[in-house]
Amino acid sequence: MEFKTFLIKYGEIGIKGKNRYLFEEALVKQIRHALKAVEGEFEVQREQGRIYVHCLSHYDFEETVEALKRVFGIVGICPVVVTEDHGFEALADTVVSYVDAQYSQKDFTFKVDSRRARKNYPKTSMELNCDLGEKLLDAYPGLRVDVHKPQVMLSVEIREKIYIYSRIIPGAGGMPVGTNGKAMLLLSGGIDSPVAGYMIAKRGVKIDAVYFHAPPYTSERAKQKVVDLARIVSRYSGPIALHVVNFTDIQLYIYDKCPHDELTIIMRRYMMRIAEHFAKETGCLGLITGESIGQVASQTMQSLAATNEVCTMPVYRPLIGFDKQEIVDVSLKIDAYETSIQPFEDCCTIFVAKHPVTKPNINVIRRSETKLEEKIDDMVKTAVDTAEMIWVE
Ligand code: ATP
Ligand code: MG
Repeated sequence: MEFKTFLIKYGEIGIKGKNRYLFEEALVKQIRHALKAVEGEFEVQREQGRIYVHCLSHYDFEETVEALKRVFGIVGICPVVVTEDHGFEALADTVVSYVDAQYSQKDFTFKVDSRRARKNYPKTSMELNCDLGEKLLDAYPGLRVDVHKPQVMLSVEIREKIYIYSRIIPGAGGMPVGTNGKAMLLLSGGIDSPVAGYMIAKRGVKIDAVYFHAPPYTSERAKQKVVDLARIVSRYSGPIALHVVNFTDIQLYIYDKCPHDELTIIMRRYMMRIAEHFAKETGCLGLITGESIGQVASQTMQSLAATNEVCTMPVYRPLIGFDKQEIVDVSLKIDAYETSIQPFEDCCTIFVAKHPVTKPNINVIRRSETKLEEKIDDMVKTAVDTAEMIWVE
């Protein structure tokens, strides 16, 4: 049995009135975007608080479901049989053959769950449940009804047409990208930041990204790895505008003027400042990093406070309470891990002190930064002006 339609289930809590309309619009847009990469012709239809994906040509079931599973806002994907209303007997026949096609072993407990969006249908939902149940029991004596905890819940929705389904493939959850503004992700070539971007996008936030590149200390291949990671995140978040900033001169200048044990913190403060510049320029409402408390010296509470101090925008750190393994688990789930562990460093070892400060004092850091006063503003301006924008989708 080839399914020609998917019923898309989405969370409805808190999306009443106008919000609901925006939510559905954004969801339809994201579904269309996700299906662009899938071979075949699809139509996404919105009707009476339902979203359907119709497959108009031959298509690959697995590939289509995989694409839909990456769309935030979808709670469940139901392959559904759609039939015209030709009376109850015809419906019963269709339901019986649906069960035949879907389940080779007919020895499970089930419940029929009918809904009538069209109230002029001659039977009530209750009558439909009982009568269809009876037809199924007649056809397959191995079946049993269990109204409390059925193994198979057979849904029958009576609308203009009739929709029959029993399988709900779990979706990604979250909210459709575009329903919650935009934020700027500081994306490096590591494991954490792609996961952080994924998690914020999951809440409906559109993502732009910035990568600080330090040629020739970091290779062209390291940059390509970041582009690859952005592409992986974009499979969930939609297209990403990736700003690649040449950070070499700033790093060398800091290295030259400031105590080496403070290098990482001061570098991070400049990364935040520059990221915030792009964020403001492009209408972002916050920054996103992959930081997690205590993971490395630059992520102690004191270091985070020192990095945070230069930002005027909210900084979202969705991994803040995650252990490394928990982050790796998400990275694997979103297929980023293999790329993240490729051995192209996003940061040159000469810029990493042997004994970095773990409890930086903000006043001390500020004082060190005054040593940069002569040139740093011009350098930041140059870095911003010469940044390359890569459109990733
Ligand atoms: P990741 O796995 O994301 O690289 P990490 O464990 O290596 O993180 P750090 O290198 O301390 O941690 O970086 C912390 C965060 O700072 C990163 O998650 C990322 O958001 C940002 N960041 C670090 N380096 C860069 C860079 N070169 N370009 C852009 N953002 C960066
Ligand atoms: Mg890193």
